[in-house]
Amino acid sequence: MHTAPEGEARILELPELVINQIAAGEVVERPASVVKELVENALDAGASEIRIDLEEGGVKLVRIVDNGCGMGPDDLRLAFQQHATSKLRSAEDLEHIGSLGFRGEALASIGSVSRARIVSRPEDSELGWEVVNEGGRIAEVREAPAARGTTIEVRDLFYNTPARRRFLKRTSTELGRCLDVLQRTALAHVGVGFTVTHDRARVFDVESSMNMRDRVRRLFGVELAESLVPVGGEDGDTRISGFVAPPRFSRRDTSRQMWFLNGRPMRDRILSRVLKEGYRGFLVEGRQPVAFLTLSMDPSKVDVNVHPTKSEVRFREERRLFGFLVNRLREAVSQTDISTPGDKLLGTAARRGGWTPREDAPGQARLPDPGAPRPWSRGGSTSGQAQGDDSTPRVREVAGRPFEEVYGDGSAVGQPAAAEESKAWDACDQFKGPFLQIDKTYIVRALPDGFEVIDQHAFHERVTYEGLRAQLRGGSVEVQRRLVPELVEVSRADIETLQPHLEGLRKIGVEVEVFGATTLAVQGLPALLRNPDPEGVVRDILAVVEKTGQAPTAEDVVEEVLHSAACRSSIMAGDELRDDSIRALLERAAELENDQTCPHARPTRVRFTLEDLEKAFHRR
Ligand code: ADP
Ligand code: MG
Repeated sequence: MHTAPEGEARILELPELVINQIAAGEVVERPASVVKELVENALDAGASEIRIDLEEGGVKLVRIVDNGCGMGPDDLRLAFQQHATSKLRSAEDLEHIGSLGFRGEALASIGSVSRARIVSRPEDSELGWEVVNEGGRIAEVREAPAARGTTIEVRDLFYNTPARRRFLKRTSTELGRCLDVLQRTALAHVGVGFTVTHDRARVFDVESSMNMRDRVRRLFGVELAESLVPVGGEDGDTRISGFVAPPRFSRRDTSRQMWFLNGRPMRDRILSRVLKEGYRGFLVEGRQPVAFLTLSMDPSKVDVNVHPTKSEVRFREERRLFGFLVNRLREAVSQTDISTPGDKLLGTAARRGGWTPREDAPGQARLPDPGAPRPWSRGGSTSGQAQGDDSTPRVREVAGRPFEEVYGDGSAVGQPAAAEESKAWDACDQFKGPFLQIDKTYIVRALPDGFEVIDQHAFHERVTYEGLRAQLRGGSVEVQRRLVPELVEVSRADIETLQPHLEGLRKIGVEVEVFGATTLAVQGLPALLRNPDPEGVVRDILAVVEKTGQAPTAEDVVEEVLHSAACRSSIMAGDELRDDSIRALLERAAELENDQTCPHARPTRVRFTLEDLEKAFHRR
């Protein structure tokens, strides 16, 4: 330990450079953080056009050119100072922050770990000025020629902090992260134009006049853009708007899941849960939905000053907000085109069988030309630092091809939306029959414009589940009481687990009583269950309660119990069905909110259009 000589304090105030470098450790992790901070500054300055030039993944250069309000010499003198900001005057201001920045530490931090330069000219000035900051050494402000607005250049990030520099990944990874930030920002700020280049090649641009759907089309391709369903609603002064994509666009990562809160791209735990809830029953385990959502609310209802990078927030009325958002989302999700288009299957079959129904078969990604030069490609994750990797967009070949063609994933290439078609279908569901049952598992029925194949088990499961949900939402579940209670043997521990939840279970139509030290008596079950299996239902409930440790009144537990109850009671593959029971099933399904996937998100029906048949038979 360092011992101080007599009479000299051991505790010293840190020099400003060290303070800034410590702060930089929090705010500036990598080039993408520089991009984020500088673009936010440009937006706060009211810019309507922002140009971003990157070199070597942003490590060599990040340059941001904006046409915002600019800075005069007095501002420039302070811009690189720690805690110097024009956006906050007092502690009260923290209660309702409307700007993206406010901590006044980004420029100081960035300047302390790079060679930075700001050139700026305010609107009302004839002259421009510049100030340079080399690793924390800030030069005098000088006159310099400048266009209206501000240009900030950040070169050689971490040149003076080698330990930090070593943590940077390869160029393609750093670039991917910069682009992820820029895509999110471009979607969050409709009304602002963005132009992005890397090593002098254009990567993407969006014009200021483009709306959100246009931007999605430019960034992620036409198919996704055309299939989006709008979300909207308000609750007091909280408003949600934006789009959700049909479940088939879901991905393994969350890179196409975007929340914007008062203009700020946000990755928040609550908001991720909202999406998960909104798509419950529509997605298979492990898939992430695609959605672009804007939330605006009174800044005093949300605390953004939780984390230095401001990507986490705290909501004041979390529960209410949660319920409101989930309902609006579910509404929109159920309106997306959920049916499995048969043409996708034909595409798959075609590839398997080795024939090509058409030049660019749907479902077949047009692969990048392997001969094309590769300015960059996506790097695999090289070190143990996998954190945040799901935010990295896939960067593939770009040379000489339109950005969206390359940058969208395979599914986003070239096909028009199926939404129009599905509307036509809905109008002509006639339940007429005749129906053809195949292998006691599938039902085939003719439709005016093709035919569809129904998986009878999955379909019945969905019908039962939705029926139960509807009754539950309506306030009461119809119960079928048993003449003689069914006794189920369980362990003492099981009884303890279940006892506190018996009242909650009653609300969802499951009437169970404790009958002995190790016996439960099932008195009644929801009437919608066909061939109810009381013992199975009790065991499922036990499993769910144990797994989640929650009362069965919590929505997700209820849903799980309903899922498994529906599944247990469904017509199984292998049941022979008569025309009239098929018809009854179809009619019940027609009244449901969603009948296109089973509660575990397997498809329940696959539709083939005449067009698909024509393709299959090479008639077109
Ligand atoms: P913060 O954004 O939290 O205020 P920064 O360190 O990012 O802190 O910026 C410090 C100040 O510099 C800002 O408050 C703003 O007044 C000014 N500034 C930064 N970038 C720009 C820009 N592009 N145009 C105009 N002013 C800017
Ligand atoms: Mg800032």
